[in-house]
Amino acid sequence: MGGGNAQKAAMARERKKAAAGKTANSQLKVNEAAKNTMCSVCRQTFLMTIRQKALEEHVTNKHAGKEFKACFPTFVTSE
Ligand SMILES: [Zn+2]
Repeated sequence: MGGGNAQKAAMARERKKAAAGKTANSQLKVNEAAKNTMCSVCRQTFLMTIRQKALEEHVTNKHAGKEFKACFPTFVTSE
């Protein structure tokens, strides 16, 4: 008596957890798609919304002496 309900509740919790996992996965995909700025030298990816300043810092820190365009040839610089 009563045990059936508890089990049902537990199953509902599991289902909710599974649904949450799916949502997290699709969010991950969105994040992957948004990472479309990639360093040509070390293949590190950056969000497309990243600021040029941050990319310049990456070049300075990781590839001292390299041109900005050598690392990010497709990035539209705002000069
Ligand atoms: Zn790099």
